[in-house]
Amino acid sequence: MNDDGNSQPSFNNAPGAGEHVRWLNDLSRERQAGPAFSCSRQINTDARPATLCVHSGTYEDPNTGAVGSPLFATTTFRFCEDAFDSFLDGFIRDIPIYSRYGNPNQWTVQLKIAALEKAQSALVLASGMAAITTTLLALTNRNGHIISSYDLYGGSYSLLRSDMHQFGRTVSYVDPLDISSVEQAIQPETQAVFLESLSNPLMKAIDLPAIASICKRHDVLLIIDNTFLSPISCQPLQHGADIVIHSGTKYLSGHSDQTCGSVAGSRKLVDRVWAQLLKFGAMLDPAQCHLLERSLKTLAIRMKAHQEGAKRITEFLSRHPQVKKVHSPYLEGDDNHRLMAYAQNLSTGILSFEVEGGNTAALQLLNHLTLITPATSLGGVESLVSLPFNTSHSGLTTYQQEQIGLNLGLVRLSVGIEDPEDLCQDLQYALTQIRRDSEI
Ligand SMILES: *Cc1c(COP(=O)(O)O)cnc(C)c1O
Repeated sequence: MNDDGNSQPSFNNAPGAGEHVRWLNDLSRERQAGPAFSCSRQINTDARPATLCVHSGTYEDPNTGAVGSPLFATTTFRFCEDAFDSFLDGFIRDIPIYSRYGNPNQWTVQLKIAALEKAQSALVLASGMAAITTTLLALTNRNGHIISSYDLYGGSYSLLRSDMHQFGRTVSYVDPLDISSVEQAIQPETQAVFLESLSNPLMKAIDLPAIASICKRHDVLLIIDNTFLSPISCQPLQHGADIVIHSGTKYLSGHSDQTCGSVAGSRKLVDRVWAQLLKFGAMLDPAQCHLLERSLKTLAIRMKAHQEGAKRITEFLSRHPQVKKVHSPYLEGDDNHRLMAYAQNLSTGILSFEVEGGNTAALQLLNHLTLITPATSLGGVESLVSLPFNTSHSGLTTYQQEQIGLNLGLVRLSVGIEDPEDLCQDLQYALTQIRRDSEI
C-alpha cells in the first residue's frame, strides 16, 4: 500500500480538519478489519463464495436467537462510555453513534461485501455514483491527477469530464488495453487510476494484474469499478487493486428494486472514504441495507443462472445471420483470455451485439421483443435490453463513440435468470420481424 507516498492525499492541512480527521493520517494507529459486532457472524475465510453470501456478517442477535439480522430502524444510539473515548481516540467508526456514521444494518451488509471481495473493510452508499464520487474525492486531493478511460459508465465519465476540474483534479484518458499508455500517462501528481474491470458495453477486459503492478511501481492507487463482474467472477483486490467499487443497483441487489453502491479495500483507505462519506452524506438507509443483505444471500446462485443464460445467448447470436458481431466474455478471444487469467469463475450476464441494418434495425428489435424489456440498467433477474448510442453513451460525440468501437446497430443485453430458451425464442422472433419490416 502506498499510504505514505508523496502522491498520497493528506487531510492534515485541509482547512477545518477536526480531531477525528487527524487520526486518519496517523499511520501508527492500529486498524482492525470491520467495523463488526461481537455477534456478527464470521465465516472461515476458506469458505466458498456461495457460503459467504448466505452467512457472512449476519447480526446474530444474542437476545432472541433470530436467524436473520434484525432491522435497526434508528437514527441514533444511546451513548456508552466508549462512545466518548471513540471521539477522542479515533475509533468512532467502530461504535454505533448516529446512523450517518454507522448503523448495525450497514455493518452487517458491509461485512458480507468485505468477505466476498476479500477486503478488510467495506462501505455501503446510496448509489454506485455516490460510491465513485465519494471515493475519488476522498483518495485524491487538489492538484492531483487521475487516469481513466472513455470506456466508462456514462455517469462516471461525466463526473470526470465535467466536475473533476472544478475540484482541482485533472484527468487523462487512456486506452486501458494498451498497457504502455497507462504507464505513459503517469505524472508526478498522479494519485489514482480509475477503471472498470469489464467495460460497458463492449465487454473489454483489462489486464488487471499488469495495470496493478504499474500502479504499485509508481505509488498510485488503483480503483476498480467491478460492477459488471461481481465478486463472484473476480475479486480485484486479490490481483493488486487498492479499492473495489460496485454499483450495488446491479448484480449485488439483483432485482432492479434498489439503488445502492459499495466501496471495499484496506481499512486505512476505506476509513478515508468513510470520512468523506460523513460529509457528503450519501450513506445507505438501514432498511435498504437489510434488503441488500437479503439479496446478497442469493448472489452466487443468481450469477450461475446469469452465466448459463449469457453463454447460451452468446452461442445463439454468434450463429445468427442478422448479427454482425457479438461482444461477450464467453467468446474465445483476447478479452476472454485476459479475463480468464485472473477471473476465478467468470459469471456475468452482460453482452452486446451489432445487428445488420444499423441503429434503425436496433430500434426495431427493441419494439419487437416481447419478453426482454427495453430499459436501461443491468444485473437484475429480468432480462433488459438497451442501445448505448441513445442511452449510456449518448454523452459521447460520434467521434468518441467510434474511438471506443461503438458501431451502428449496437445492442446491449443484460441476460436475466429466465429460461435461456425462452430468451433465444424472443430474440429470434424480433430479428425475424426486423427482416419483415425492411422488406415491406
Ligand atoms: C450503473 C453503474 C454505475 C452507477 O451506479 P448507480 O447505482 O446507478 O449510481 C457505475 N458503474 C457502472 C459500471 C454501472 O453499471
